[in-house]
Amino acid sequence: MDFKEFITIVPDYPKEGIRFKDITTLMDNGEAYKKAIDEMALFAKDKNIDLVVGPEARGFVVGCPIAYSLGVGFAPVRKAGKLPREVIKVEYGLEYGKDTLTMHKDAIKPGQRVLIADDLLATGGTIEATIKMVEELGGIVAGIAFMIELNYLDGRQKLSKYEIFSLTQYS
Ligand code: 5GP
Repeated sequence: MDFKEFITIVPDYPKEGIRFKDITTLMDNGEAYKKAIDEMALFAKDKNIDLVVGPEARGFVVGCPIAYSLGVGFAPVRKAGKLPREVIKVEYGLEYGKDTLTMHKDAIKPGQRVLIADDLLATGGTIEATIKMVEELGGIVAGIAFMIELNYLDGRQKLSKYEIFSLTQYS
């Protein structure tokens, strides 16, 4: 399946010069969404994953169904102030801006094998921050899966220590 057919490119969103890849037009197509999740879950299948971790909000859209498919749990990564219990925090740089990500301190048991999932790899800042928290909590990053990879931003280089899968690439 050519997943690009279902992804809409929105020029100048959220600001001028950004060509935003809108995955909602893939998500609202049952067949495309299922195939996308199936392929991402297939990447993770032989990795003995214990837990899927994904950053809000689109990391939930891909991470939760992958976790369900693998029969494992899901732990959310959220912006500061959104999680109700004790958290660890990390500051990170986005393709456009800066922010803080958090995870519950007890979200991962030391030694658990973690799949990190998100919709899109741009600069890799979001996932680098997510990795930091997963590893600080004693998790092992066994793989990272994206729906979309922007080749021209070299996020993969930043994450070169890890096994990365992306469903579609834009260059
Ligand atoms: P990075 O941290 O790799 O620079 O940026 C990736 C994060 O920003 C992802 O969590 C993703 O949701 C969001 N993001 C950045 N650009 C886009 C885009 O064009 N489309 C979508 N869907 N998300 C984007």
